[in-house]
Amino acid sequence: MRSKTTAGTTGYVANWVVTVGENEQAATPTVTSLSEATIVLDPGHGGNDTGAIGNNGTYEKTIALKTAAAIKAQIETTGAKVIMTRTDDSYIGLATRANSTNKHGADAFLSIHFDSTEEPNTASGTSTYYYNDNDQDFATTLNTQLETSMPLENHGIKYGDFQVLRENTAPALLLELGYINNGYDETTIDTDDYRQKVAQAVTNGLINYYAN
Ligand SMILES: [Zn+2]
Repeated sequence: MRSKTTAGTTGYVANWVVTVGENEQAATPTVTSLSEATIVLDPGHGGNDTGAIGNNGTYEKTIALKTAAAIKAQIETTGAKVIMTRTDDSYIGLATRANSTNKHGADAFLSIHFDSTEEPNTASGTSTYYYNDNDQDFATTLNTQLETSMPLENHGIKYGDFQVLRENTAPALLLELGYINNGYDETTIDTDDYRQKVAQAVTNGLINYYAN
């Protein structure tokens, strides 16, 4: 996902700006263990929407799906239920993705993306985006795991006005897991080793989030 509009910025949304109903969500987790939770994983893009394209022609939509599948497998080892917004190369609208937590009564939503810049090879690393103020602790808890175990630089948590987060009724984060149009990142992120590290970090982050 291109994050030009929000990249590098931090911010907050005043409570009175948030439409009650659209963004109503609990400030604390609804379950006390990941094993009891239902997690929605949202591989970004799909179908005609390729997402960003790497220097070597890697499609963001392809590695987002592969990465989400690895995360799903790891989360499921805890006994948690995982729902994917797409399991193949199909186009799913953003509103449908956001509504999937509501539809399935899910406890959290994680959207999986890879970053890009206008000019190739000008940025590297991972970022964790939240929209709702209530999700800052969730973002920090999850990002701490990414920071300690991922091989790419960690840019911390950031506010991001993304529709899949904004219209979500559950705690929701969007992970940008490396720059697809950075030569080093591109060769790093499309590997089983990287996917396993992401899967373990996300799972550990969720375990800690629900345990707190
Ligand atoms: Zn994306």
